[in-house]
Amino acid sequence: MKIKQILLADRPKGLPVADNFKTVDATLPDLQPGEVLVKPLYFSVDPYMRGRMNDARSYIPPFVVGEPIESGGVAEVTESKDDQFKPGDKVMSSAPRPFLPWATAAIFPAAHLRKVDDTIPLTYYLGLLGMPGLTAYFGLMDIGKPKAGETVVVSGAAGAVGIVVGQIAKIMGCRAVGIAGGSEKVKMLTDTFNFDAAIDYKGNPDMNAAVAAACPNGVDIYFDNVGGDISDAVVRHLNFFARVPLCGQISLYNSTEIPVGPRIQPILVTRSILMQGFIIGNYASRFGEGMKQLSEWVKAGKIKYTETVEEGFDHLPAALLGLFSGKNSGKMIVKV
Ligand code: NDP
Repeated sequence: MKIKQILLADRPKGLPVADNFKTVDATLPDLQPGEVLVKPLYFSVDPYMRGRMNDARSYIPPFVVGEPIESGGVAEVTESKDDQFKPGDKVMSSAPRPFLPWATAAIFPAAHLRKVDDTIPLTYYLGLLGMPGLTAYFGLMDIGKPKAGETVVVSGAAGAVGIVVGQIAKIMGCRAVGIAGGSEKVKMLTDTFNFDAAIDYKGNPDMNAAVAAACPNGVDIYFDNVGGDISDAVVRHLNFFARVPLCGQISLYNSTEIPVGPRIQPILVTRSILMQGFIIGNYASRFGEGMKQLSEWVKAGKIKYTETVEEGFDHLPAALLGLFSGKNSGKMIVKV
């Protein structure tokens, strides 16, 4: 069977460009007993994938130059030589490789696939009820430990993780303040997603003053998705015994040098602040709990969600790069 694949052509220096990707024709072998042929329906593109484009040691191995890129995705079975699957089943790949290769079709051993319930929107498995939603839930609840009346600030607030963090903060009785890029995004956060206040970091040269104005009682929890100057400004306003779940540092993912920032340790010491990095995989044994709670909140109308859906297999690289210029509101998805 003839397919198209998108490979990592070479490793980017700084911000990736189109030439770092290459589309090629390939041929799949015949299906063997115990194998399943799938056609991707939706791919997820996620900021952590930028790290996999580097040849660097991390919690997940780098992409291999000359081989297909891979990401989360939902696929449909088109042919099966295993009794557990039939054409039309909607599936995701499971641990240890919960990814689909960037290809128009792929063969998986049946043991590496799991069926998904297609009575809920399939893209939710990549966003709200998938890795980003679970990240918001466990990062905020387990590390942030929100208490009613506290102020929760989240950066990257209009994205897949941030939009959920702010809404969970509201459910917990907190004041939710989002930081995002652009007037439309901040309006969306307050008007549609129930945030109490939102700061447009692109339109606010003085972030220190903007955080002070939006958080008159200081900041009890800072859910950090972006790092850099934005986080430097928020840290100055942290209260005694504040908690800082360190989720991501997207403003630094394309840096070619290690940036030097303010020394924040004196603030952490003198205000007894907890700052903790985490990887969502740490919570794998509790994913069921997180999905159940998020589903209940969605059914009760307490959490809403939005997605930016790019159409077409060929748009995968542009969609990934779009994360770094803020092209998405909510989860960035590619519909194949
Ligand atoms: P998003 O859907 O939020 O997409 C990325 C967003 O980041 C963009 O829309 C853009 O929004 C913002 N952004 C891009 N560049 C910059 C910059 N230089 N400065 C400030 N903001 C920037 O992505 P996710 O919600 O999926 O991920 C959010 C963060 O959480 C990322 O850092 C990611 O790596 C991390 N993450 C961590 C996980 C973990 O296990 N620890 C799991 C999942 C995600 P804007 O228009 O507002 O600038």
